[in-house]
Amino acid sequence: MDQRVTGRTTEDAPGTGTPGADGTPEGCGPPPTGGAPVTGGPPHLDARRRIPRTDALLRDPRLAEAAGRLGAEAVKAAVRHAQERARHGAVAPEQVADTAVALLPRTAGGLRPVINATGVLLHTNLGRAPLSAAARRAVQEAAGPTDVELDLATGTRARRGRGALHALRARVPAAGAAHVVNNGAAALVLAATALAAGREIVVSRGEMVEIGDGFRLPDLLVSTGARLREVGTTNRTSAADYADAIGPGTGFVLKVHPSNFRVTGFTHTPATAELASLGAPLVVDIGSGLLAPHPLLPDEPDAATELRAGAALVTASGDKLLGGPQCGLLLGAEDLVPALARHPLARALRVDKLTLAALEATLTGPATPTAEALRADPRELAHRAERLTATLSAAGVDARPVACAATVGGGGAPGVTLPSAALSLPEPYAAALRTGTVPVVGRLEGGRCLLDLRAVPPEDDERLAGAVLAVRAAADGER
Ligand SMILES: *Cc1c(COP(=O)(O)O)cnc(C)c1O
Repeated sequence: MDQRVTGRTTEDAPGTGTPGADGTPEGCGPPPTGGAPVTGGPPHLDARRRIPRTDALLRDPRLAEAAGRLGAEAVKAAVRHAQERARHGAVAPEQVADTAVALLPRTAGGLRPVINATGVLLHTNLGRAPLSAAARRAVQEAAGPTDVELDLATGTRARRGRGALHALRARVPAAGAAHVVNNGAAALVLAATALAAGREIVVSRGEMVEIGDGFRLPDLLVSTGARLREVGTTNRTSAADYADAIGPGTGFVLKVHPSNFRVTGFTHTPATAELASLGAPLVVDIGSGLLAPHPLLPDEPDAATELRAGAALVTASGDKLLGGPQCGLLLGAEDLVPALARHPLARALRVDKLTLAALEATLTGPATPTAEALRADPRELAHRAERLTATLSAAGVDARPVACAATVGGGGAPGVTLPSAALSLPEPYAAALRTGTVPVVGRLEGGRCLLDLRAVPPEDDERLAGAVLAVRAAADGER
């Protein structure tokens, strides 16, 4: 018997889920110094006296304007930070105002945009799928008052999220109805509560999955008041195992895609059609949200195929391979999905207008960044690595183009490696890039910092080079 369980979670500490034996975006290396010019030497007492006072700095028109945009506290924090640098001699007193301006956050929120050079397309710690430009615009448009629940033609109430639901049905004609909740876990909770509370969910022992960060699907399902009826073994479960367990107390049969590990060797799982013919409703948790088969990911289940094979309900995440916002999709029979949508719990799992806007644009708009990254041509990635290397080498950076392997991550396509190309830099760059003005998250491999280009859109190459050059300039300034 040759059975191996391989794979790793993509959700726990930063660094897991990145390819390579020692791959981790948590770099070592010295702490960063920021990009401010360095004047060198300890400041004289009179230099310290010349550091502008807070109230004077806050009258600087640029900082006054920023207070209106970002809030007074954010501006004061930047001012204090700049004064502190001057006290340590890192900037001259005359530079304090400019430094404070440079230290201002881009937005009032604390989340910062980063460049994902980890080589993990859907990195959970980096928010999984990046939204397409179309989805971002849709979010922006929907942010104010919007007709999410109003028919502007008649002035009467309209179905919430009808555009997104219509788009989902259009992309998956095999689904009689669709509903959207907060995430994949919420979709499962709603199904379990509405269809199996006080009853049994029949599930294979090979599909008792931990999603990541300690969250286990069996615990989630049991929390709804459903009982789990485990059947089969870790590696082999037959249709007869399910059939024997199905009875009057059965809520549904659940098939879960093992989305972050693989069991290979002496294994067996019944086909969807077989499970669907056993007499109980079949719910399939496909995980990653592929709506139709993907040519590069032949082992990844998709909603259309599962529904056509007889699944009563398919659940999935919106921010994995679908490439959209965080949400949970429920696709299925016309007599089933509306009942779930009307269940009292559905209100607690309801998505907001921003999610609906992003989802609809993801479904109807151009290819998502995730789709583009998946189909990126390895030769083109190599050319980009060479071009970046040329730019950086000219500035004295020890950069090399290297071939490497990227992964899908985020609970999708376990075991699939995607040929990729990276920029290889000395290891200390990892920490400095991560904490720079434009944070870049790479991974460590073989004692080097790799910036994997597969998940970096080509239009970000210039920003990536800029970030590396800024680290180099700061290091030069320290000498
Ligand atoms: C990711 C995943 C989930 C959880 O989905 P979230 O959107 O993270 O809540 C559930 N089941 C499977 C198979 C998954 O891959």
